Parts: sequence; C-alpha cells; structure tokens
Amino acid sequence: MSTNAILEVKNLAKAFAANKVLHHVNFEVKQGEIVGLLGPNGSGKSTLLNIISGFVGPDAGEIRLVGRSIAGMPTYRLVQEGMARTFQLPIMPQKMSVLEVAMAAATDAHGVFSTLFRTARDRAAERRALERARHLLDELLLTRVAHLPASAISGGQKKLLGIVCALMAEPRLLMLDEPTAGVHPNVRNDIVQALHRLNASGVTLVIVEHDMHFIRDACSRCIVLDQGEIVASCRPDELASNARVVQAYLGASVEV
Ligand code: ADP
Ligand code: MG
Repeated sequence: MSTNAILEVKNLAKAFAANKVLHHVNFEVKQGEIVGLLGPNGSGKSTLLNIISGFVGPDAGEIRLVGRSIAGMPTYRLVQEGMARTFQLPIMPQKMSVLEVAMAAATDAHGVFSTLFRTARDRAAERRALERARHLLDELLLTRVAHLPASAISGGQKKLLGIVCALMAEPRLLMLDEPTAGVHPNVRNDIVQALHRLNASGVTLVIVEHDMHFIRDACSRCIVLDQGEIVASCRPDELASNARVVQAYLGASVEV
C-alpha cells in the first residue's frame, strides 16, 4: 500500500441477485483527504459505504483500514478502529431527546454506560461524553433543539444529528452519505465549515454528495462511480472536462 493510505478498496464486487451493483471497485483514500464520492442515482454509492462500514457483506474484494484488512469485522469493531459513517435517511427514536441520542452514540462507541455499578472513572467518562455531545450539538447548530424529541426535528436537522452521533466516537475516518440532502441552503455553508474544522483536526472524510457547489467548496478530490466501477479520480474543478464523468451523467451538468 502507499504509506499514508487510510482506506484501500481493491476489486470490490457486490450483486443483489442478478443486479451487479459493484464490480472491480478500486480506490484509496489518503490520510487527511476530503474525498467526494459521486455517481448517478443507483450507481452503488450507499452500497459501497454500507460494505466499507460493515453493514453489508461484499461478494469479493479487499478493504484495508490503515493497512489492515477489515473483512468480516463487525460494525462496532470498525467504530472502535476509528471508522464512522452517517446514513442517507437517518431514523431517530421516538422517545429520546436530541441530546440523549448523541449520548447514546457515545455508549455504542466507548461503552460509557456499560456498567450498572458506576465507578468514578465511569462518571468521568460520562461527563466527557456530555461535554463532547454539547460541543458537537453546538458545532452542528443543534443546541436550540437539544431538548426536543429527536423524532420531532426536521429532516435536515436529523442529518446534522447523524453527523453528531458519528463524531461522538472520535473517528479518524468519517463517511457521510448525502449530508446536505434536505438541509436548508443557509446551513450548507455551516456544514462545509464544520467539516473543514474537523478535517483540520485530523479526520479524513469521504462524502457522498450531489450538490456540485458543496463538492467544490468541501472536497480536495472526487472519485466517480458509474456502472459498478470508479471511472474518474480528479479535482472538483476537473470534473466538467472529464469525459468519463460527463458520460456517467449523460450530459447532465457537472459544472462547478
Ligand atoms: P446510490 O446510493 O448510488 O443511489 P445504492 O447503493 O442505494 O445507489 O443502490 C445501488 C443499486 O443496488 C440499486 O439498484 C438498488 O436498488 C440496489 N440495492 C441496494 N441495496 C439493496 C438491497 N439491500 N437489496 C437489493 N438491492 C439493493
Ligand atoms: Mg445512496
């Protein structure tokens, strides 16, 4: 592997019955990059994230995180290894507040509330998790709704809460599935800024996104998925002149 690769995907293949969604998917992400993952609807972007994050098994291929194979690793282990992701359609529980949902994500990541017999160390971990949750809710513009039921906030706010939850685990690789879909345009800029701050603090980002303005503002490199493979890897400003990209979008505008 190249020395500073955080994620390597080799010859990955996945079919759902006769639907061959991914075949020969090859790419790598270097530490510190902000990579946009693009592709037409149905090209397999979410499936690719689902496989990398351990929610769906591949038919073939290899995935390495910081040089180590993660094939067959359960999702909670992947979280402990520093991988986090958000979902395209976040579903929030009925009875928990926004703050409680963020705190529950800390439980998943570090077992903060794993013991009934609480020690001083547990309480310190809980306090740190609460501080982190409040900080992240602030960063992602959710302080005002922190006390509301998570199921009652808007679709865009659920997206932001999904990012907060992913960050509770202090990941080194964060993959976001359409973070701005359903988010008010005014908030997009705040998300870009928050992602840049995150990246500056050492987090590598892979972002599935359709919004070309967002991609131009947020990403250092783009990879484009079409008909089961990666057909381009280039800077955002090179997308519009890349023949494979234009072909993938059948002439739809990819101007940035
Ligand atoms: P994208 O995120 O690029 O829009 P998806 O990864 O969601 O694309 O879907 C790619 C293809 O895989 C689609 O044809 C979709 O219907 C199919 N697919 C995804 N998940 C499943 C599943 N669990 N079962 C069957 N087909 C699926
Ligand atoms: Mg998708």
